[in-house]
Amino acid sequence: MQAERTKPVIEVNDLHKSFGEFKVIDGVSLDTNENEVISLIGGSGSGKSTILRCISLLSMPDAGEIYVDGQRMPLSQPSRKKNRVVTDTRRLRVAREQIGMVFQQFNLWSHLTVMQNIIEGPMCVKRVTRQDAIATAEELLVRVGMADKRNAYPSMLSGGQQQRVAIARTLAMKPRVILFDEPTSALDPEMVGEVLQVILDLADEGRSMIVVTHEIGFAREVSNRILFLNTGKIVEEGPAEQIVDNPQSVECQQFLANFK
Ligand code: ADP
Ligand code: MG
Repeated sequence: MQAERTKPVIEVNDLHKSFGEFKVIDGVSLDTNENEVISLIGGSGSGKSTILRCISLLSMPDAGEIYVDGQRMPLSQPSRKKNRVVTDTRRLRVAREQIGMVFQQFNLWSHLTVMQNIIEGPMCVKRVTRQDAIATAEELLVRVGMADKRNAYPSMLSGGQQQRVAIARTLAMKPRVILFDEPTSALDPEMVGEVLQVILDLADEGRSMIVVTHEIGFAREVSNRILFLNTGKIVEEGPAEQIVDNPQSVECQQFLANFK
């Protein structure tokens, strides 16, 4: 798929993050354009989740800049203390609402029904009326094929069904961009396809997304570009077909050989 080149929805410049002495992200820059899907691939521990956590402002980078629609995200300000502090919690909350995140482990609230899981965020965070939140949720449940489960609790659902509800919950917040962190890694093989199909449908709608996945065939199909990450650095990036079919770096060749 070719995306039209427009202004980046997400722009990350020279991101750095360490845990103690251990440098996990070592100068990562990337962007995601309007209507574009990019995939991040790389071995376990290469820093994929940390990058997504920084973009969604769940983790604070040590250095670097993140822009959403050209607006600089309120990352921590340098302070006299060694730890950096976040100064503007309101701006941070507003910024976070622009980024949706779907996790490997679904993270649905177990004590709430499917419907309650989806309307909670819009009602509590965005102050949407209950009636409007329910109307949106009903549409979203149809889109992810879960309309008949609106009154079910998560424990009554399969993993694939829970993940589809989690995607609907993320969509209900109307995020500018959606980040997926290995959305099918916790699923039994027979359920992977139904979740990937929902993500493909979102791509077809022109949503801007960043996908971390080990489903290389899927990444090739859904992405405009793929970025290969190794020990906290982007070693190689390019059109999806090129990276999967004809990787240039030894590291990426070795990584992809695991999937052949
Ligand atoms: P990936 O998602 O590519 O598997 P991660 O971003 O989860 O990689 O982790 C990158 C590295 O950072 C790993 O070595 C991991 O152990 C380490 N790491 C991640 N989160 C933390 C944390 N909160 N504290 C200490 N080390 C962490
Ligand atoms: Mg991870």
